[in-house]
Amino acid sequence: MADLRELYQSVILDHSRSPRNSGPLAEATASGSGHNPMCGDAVVVQVRMDGDTIADVRFTTPPGVGCAVSKASASMMTNAVRGKSRDEADALFARFQRMVTGGPADDVGHLAVFAGVAQFPVRVKCATLAWHALRAALHTP
Ligand code: ZN
Repeated sequence: MADLRELYQSVILDHSRSPRNSGPLAEATASGSGHNPMCGDAVVVQVRMDGDTIADVRFTTPPGVGCAVSKASASMMTNAVRGKSRDEADALFARFQRMVTGGPADDVGHLAVFAGVAQFPVRVKCATLAWHALRAALHTP
C-alpha cells in the first residue's frame, strides 16, 4: 500500500502545482465561493450551465492562498464534473464527502486519491471546499 499512497500523493501534488481549470470562466452563468478559516483556503467556482448540464467549470483562488489539498481538490473537482448534470455532480459530491469522512471510495474515479484525507479530519474542509462552492453555484436560483 505504501507505493499506492505515494502515487496518490504525487497526483495531489501535481494538481496543486499545476491546477487544471484555474482562472476566470468566460460567460459564467453562476458562481459560488468558499472560505476555510481553519486553513486560510479560499476559492470561487464558476460554472456555465447548458440547461441542466455543467458545460464548463473553472475555479480561482487569490494569489498565494490555498493549501495543496484545497487546490488539488478544486483542480480535480472541475475535471470530474464537467459535462455532468447537476444531479450527477451532487451525487458525486455526496460520495466524495462520504469517502473523505471515512466511508468507502465507491464510484469516485480518480478522486479516490483523496481517500487518505479521512485520516486527517482537519483536512476534510480543505478537500471539500471547492465542492461546497460548486454546490452553491449549482443551486443558486
Ligand atoms: Zn487547506
